[in-house]
Amino acid sequence: MLRINHFINGEFVIPHGEDYKEKRSPNDGKVLAEVANGGREDAKRGIDAAYESHKSWSKLPPIKRAEYLSKFLEIYKSSVNTFQEYLIREAGGIKKKAWAETLFTERLISNAIEVARHVNGENIPSDSEGQLNIVFKKPKGVTSVITPWNYPLSISIKKVMHSLAFGNTVVLKTSSETPMTGYLIADVAQKSLPKGVLNVIFGSGSVVGDEMVTNKKVSHITFTGETVTGKEIASKAGGNLKSVTLELGGSDPLIIMDDVDIDYATRLAVFGAFFHQGQICTSSKRILVHERIYDRFVSRFMEAVNNLVVGDPELENTDIGPLINERQVSAMQEFVKDSQDRGGKIISGGKFKENYFYPTVVTDVDANFKIMKEEVFGPVRPVVRFSTKEEAIDIANSTEYGLSGAVLTNNINTALFFVENVEAGMFHVNDVTFLEESHIPFGGIKSSGLGREGGLYSARETMYDKWVTFTTRTKRFPIPASLKEKTN
Ligand code: NAD
Repeated sequence: MLRINHFINGEFVIPHGEDYKEKRSPNDGKVLAEVANGGREDAKRGIDAAYESHKSWSKLPPIKRAEYLSKFLEIYKSSVNTFQEYLIREAGGIKKKAWAETLFTERLISNAIEVARHVNGENIPSDSEGQLNIVFKKPKGVTSVITPWNYPLSISIKKVMHSLAFGNTVVLKTSSETPMTGYLIADVAQKSLPKGVLNVIFGSGSVVGDEMVTNKKVSHITFTGETVTGKEIASKAGGNLKSVTLELGGSDPLIIMDDVDIDYATRLAVFGAFFHQGQICTSSKRILVHERIYDRFVSRFMEAVNNLVVGDPELENTDIGPLINERQVSAMQEFVKDSQDRGGKIISGGKFKENYFYPTVVTDVDANFKIMKEEVFGPVRPVVRFSTKEEAIDIANSTEYGLSGAVLTNNINTALFFVENVEAGMFHVNDVTFLEESHIPFGGIKSSGLGREGGLYSARETMYDKWVTFTTRTKRFPIPASLKEKTN
């Protein structure tokens, strides 16, 4: 049995209270690991280690930090198979999802290595003669990284690597649902990074997470998770004058115009809506279809969804694995019930077996359905009919969220209309809603978050500007009037 301890100052250490919790498989309920159930003392020890190591890590020339991250990359690559195995076993992702996540993670680490040396300060002309203004870019200090269970590896690594690259040190808490990935990240760090620059603490959000948000030695918090948690973290961080980056929930619209190839649009929509069981922040959560092709699209979409293979994520041909836990299954049941109560038609799915929830499509919906207003973090999707572009925009913008969106059309003017008018931090023309690259500004607006992460955009979040002046002439000062200045 795998026993997971905290990783503090380069060592795996048993929790202060010697308390452990079981992590069970979402697939068959078997116990996969015993995981340290940390308390505040453990979180404080991790934060103290990060605080101490920041003194030397922040002083290293960026190229030296990049060398350490290169070592991390080398060891990461040699552990990729284990990462994939853990992602499938603990998060219920299918093989293709685990493969894609590990590949993207490699790119994220490579990008952090690349950008470490590319943060430039500036020289600003001064209003004062003989004065030089320089802006130094400085790391903020200790960053708390708090991450969710759906992409536990890539989301954690993006935040950790870009914080480290820019001279910060880190305390990481992965979700209680995905401790094994956190443990493997710690294992790679132990073999590659100086002691204390990355610490990994296991435990609940309300105890370990809360300490990581409120502790005085933490300067910046980067969080990915639910909007309601993000708001709580933001208010606590704000009260302690800490900066935050928040990547939160979404209800992204995929808008399908009437000039597209319906077969292609169907394949794209199935992937966009149901990959990783729909448990992606930027999943296509509402599918809006032009009335001229609506009926044809719905019948093909329903057929394709009914053909998705639901089952064991370890099997090669599985399309849909289990949901992460029973709570998510209950949430999906509630969305289905609300849809039925309001007169919606469930044209496929709507049922479940243990943690396996069949991909579900709902038609005949209106703006009051829960699936149209709330984030559906699972495989239940409405297909909505619209007749004009303006109506599509009204529907698209009718939620509190503003993460991503997409339109499928062959008309450039139509595409630009949607680019301009959909309220979102990211928008894609002729693609799915969940694109991501290591160096682009990833993030949302409205209740979907604050700040951007990826490449040099992460430096804006984890560094501060320090204004420095050099004065090269003797100045005259208005006081003390009694002392006459010597004139040269
Ligand atoms: P969650 O908010 O329940 O938990 C996320 C993390 O926060 C976990 O590690 C949890 O332990 C911790 N946490 C919980 N309460 C806390 C508190 N009070 N203080 C500090 N930490 C706390 O989210 P989840 O269920 O793990 O993830 C699903 C959500 O994540 C969805 O809403 C999804 O849209 C969102 N998400 C967003 C993005 C994005 O980039 N915008 C990416 C992936 C997932």
